[in-house]
Amino acid sequence: MKNYFFKQALLPDGWQSNVRIHVDANGLFSAVDTNCKAKSSDNMLDCVIPTMPNYHSHVFQRAMAGLTEYKTSDNDSFWSWRDLMYQYANQIDADQLYHIACYAYSEMLQAGYSSVCEFHYIHRDLSDRNNTENMSLAIIKAAHDVGIALTLLPVLYTQAHIDGSPLNEIQQRFKLNTDEYIELYRSLEKQLYPEQNMGICFHSLRAVSIEQIKTVLDELNVGQPIHIHISEQTAEVEQIVEHTNMRPVELLFHHFDVNKNWCLVHATHLNDKEIKLITQSKATAGICPMTEANLGDGVFPLSQFVKQNGRLAIGSDSHILINPFQELQILEYSQRLHLQQRVIASNSYAQNVGTMLWNQSVQGGNLSCQLPVAGIAKNQQANWISIDTCHAMLTHLTRVQILDTLIFANNQIPAQTYLIGEKVNQLSGIIEENYKNTLKSLR
Ligand SMILES: [Zn+2]
Repeated sequence: MKNYFFKQALLPDGWQSNVRIHVDANGLFSAVDTNCKAKSSDNMLDCVIPTMPNYHSHVFQRAMAGLTEYKTSDNDSFWSWRDLMYQYANQIDADQLYHIACYAYSEMLQAGYSSVCEFHYIHRDLSDRNNTENMSLAIIKAAHDVGIALTLLPVLYTQAHIDGSPLNEIQQRFKLNTDEYIELYRSLEKQLYPEQNMGICFHSLRAVSIEQIKTVLDELNVGQPIHIHISEQTAEVEQIVEHTNMRPVELLFHHFDVNKNWCLVHATHLNDKEIKLITQSKATAGICPMTEANLGDGVFPLSQFVKQNGRLAIGSDSHILINPFQELQILEYSQRLHLQQRVIASNSYAQNVGTMLWNQSVQGGNLSCQLPVAGIAKNQQANWISIDTCHAMLTHLTRVQILDTLIFANNQIPAQTYLIGEKVNQLSGIIEENYKNTLKSLR
């Protein structure tokens, strides 16, 4: 359908020069050849990198970004933020969710994400609590209409604590039993668009019992992605240790055959044994650096994880900001502040932090969503980010320095996302207008 010639491109095995690609009628790369000569009919671009999979999203939270930055008590924490978030979640209907998702997914495309895993737990319709599909259908439609590839993760959420205590009043819209979950999963699977995928999802080890996880996996597990919040908060870790004498990752591995299909969301608080379990299993550790910083979650042990060749993915989660470059900046900076060292994310594969973190996050994100978004490679979606190397900050730089500059020294350097071989348009006026009206009705 279309040929492009990239003077420099970041491929899964590293930077390459003079890359000629062909986009086929299905929007996939049907050829990616290196060290080529350009043809006169080729579309020429200077420097491109792959788009980023966004492995973790609660899209409705975009509508409350910036609204919780005030004191509610002497010890504001994740838990006091969660109370505010629940109040917000409880007002949103399917139509409002659709408009919020259209806006946030459009922002993701502009920022360089081309796919999203939606960790979706507001199941029950606002007015008809027996309807558990409407909210998911709003997400499915929004992702399709905007053009972002979706892995829908309907969440099983059954209890308030690991002791089995029931969900409280404000959590009732999340509630499903295992039979309801399995029925919903099978029904939604039939209503996806061809470019979409689904995965199994458990809220956390505190919100779902081991028996319930087993029941669902026995019925539904055929090798699709499996996501779970694993150890975001120290209070959560302590609660699980108190009840089981095991830390969350230990508990999960004790009961389940955790493999590369598993994505452990917010694998923030890990001891040495848990790091080893995750890296040896090839499961992905999901990190949301900006949200984790915003919520005061803690610092992921990136240095040890990288040394053991662990797989990681990044997500914008609460969407306090939507920007994969800044996610990686915060990820690296949090380590530097914590360890009082520089250049943490570096290994024999890539000495430069930008190249190392970007490519590792693309590959981990791809595993987490199981969509054809593993970067600039044959049979993957023809998506990429083109960087304006004429910008004053970049003209004198090598390609690895360009990506480092985008992550650490970016002051509005133009980068254009291409989706299925075409430039992503500016945010549509209708989407923006609907979003504004939705916010107005929610505040
Ligand atoms: Zn989450």
